[in-house]
Amino acid sequence: YGDGNSADQSFFKTPTIKFTKLFINGEFVDSISGKTFETIDPTNGEVIARVAEGDKEDIDLAVKAARDAFDNGPWPRMSGAARGRILLKFADLIEENIEELAAIDAMDAGKLFNWGKAVDIPHVASLLRYYAGAADKIHGDVLKMSMEFHGYTLLEPIGVVGHIIPWNFPSTIFFMKVAPALAAGCTMVVKPAEQTPLSALYYAHLSKLAGIPAGVINVVNGYGPTAGAAISSHMDIDKVSFTGSTEVGQKIMQAAAISNLKQVSLELGGKSPLLIFDDADVDKAADLALLGITHNKGEICVASSRVYVQEGIYDELVKKLVEKAKTWVVGNPFDPKSQLGPQVDKQQFEKILSYIEHGKREGATLLTGGKALGNKGYFLQPTIFTEVKEDMLIAKDEIFGPVMSLMKFKTVEDGIKRANNTRYGLAAGIVTKNLDVANTVSRSIRAGIIWINCYFAFDNDCPYGGYKMSGYGRDFGLEALHKFLQTKSVVTPLYNS
Ligand code: ADP
Repeated sequence: YGDGNSADQSFFKTPTIKFTKLFINGEFVDSISGKTFETIDPTNGEVIARVAEGDKEDIDLAVKAARDAFDNGPWPRMSGAARGRILLKFADLIEENIEELAAIDAMDAGKLFNWGKAVDIPHVASLLRYYAGAADKIHGDVLKMSMEFHGYTLLEPIGVVGHIIPWNFPSTIFFMKVAPALAAGCTMVVKPAEQTPLSALYYAHLSKLAGIPAGVINVVNGYGPTAGAAISSHMDIDKVSFTGSTEVGQKIMQAAAISNLKQVSLELGGKSPLLIFDDADVDKAADLALLGITHNKGEICVASSRVYVQEGIYDELVKKLVEKAKTWVVGNPFDPKSQLGPQVDKQQFEKILSYIEHGKREGATLLTGGKALGNKGYFLQPTIFTEVKEDMLIAKDEIFGPVMSLMKFKTVEDGIKRANNTRYGLAAGIVTKNLDVANTVSRSIRAGIIWINCYFAFDNDCPYGGYKMSGYGRDFGLEALHKFLQTKSVVTPLYNS
């Protein structure tokens, strides 16, 4: 492993932080209370910037602006084609600032700079373009009704939307939610995660340059139980779209139910299984399993945190995995050599370490990793446990770190049963050359996305979301657009006389 504290500082390209206030009604403003909070660099625990801290009163102001923009402003009334053109401009502006945006997320969230530059930030521009192309193709049906009536349906924007965002993909998840809601003609209040408040403010700035009218996008940073809860219980928000933990998802649904019954969509936790069958190429399967748990430091809700290996190749695969894990480079997210940056903050870092301790106490065998690295920042070694039993906490809970639980299975039926032995149902992976096995398993696992001989293969057009306690509603694809639309039926007699 690297030590997380390379002496070579030449790759540091920390940007100046330009935007730290709330963005309400098209302007950057202080919070009403004047309070600010610190956002921390996870490579060293130092403060990057102080950011305006919004609370209920600021959410109220932002909702008022969004409501006015929805009820009286041009955005929901302009043609889909006109909205699409503005979204294309927004995408171009993002592309012009890729380096700076990737650097902000690298500093704020510990995400790999090169990955952000090559993948995450270009992807958000492509997401905007995907929904820009959909904005002028939103239409209802013509209804041939019984008796002497006919009717049609209108797909109308749902209204004011609250988006509550987690810290692991501050840019991607911002646009997974904001882009389809904009295309649908909604107006919105976005609350980024308190750990990663910075890039959303930059996007707010770019949205104004792109020509998105004041009040359509409002960004209010702040904490979950204050600013976040003010969104889920607000009487004038029509829909809340949330990505985060299952526990908070339950709170949001409860708050939505007892306030104004606003619609809710939830993309929650996961404990996704990867099933590797005897006929797999062991080397490739080991690469996939390792990628599945180390990508974005394991801070990804679809991480393949439960790896089930069929008994015929178990020993060989374990050996390969350990060899490969030991070569993984943990280090500064700006260092091009790094494959794993720091965990997002001290709290997550300590939570992961305590799960590792728990795994050892429960009797799982620690094959490799398990320790913090360096003397500052929140760096962890990729960690693999074997001899894991399904009732152990490390096999059941979402750890949200680079910690893999390896388990053995015998038959296809046994593999399916174990894969489904979880309260979650977000994703699953299958590695096999046998088409029958792939077909059977993919239809038997209760999860929202199944990857066969690949992992993390996302696409703008490929819906993604949870079964079971991983939530409901789909991000990406036209399904996400429809989350922000509602159907109105219009009926009229065919003949008036
Ligand atoms: P994680 O476990 O990934 O940190 P959380 O579910 O705690 O995710 O947080 C995801 C988002 O939900 C963050 O923006 C956070 O501020 C927000 N949040 C946390 N608690 C609440 C709450 N009670 N009501 C609304 N939003 C909340």
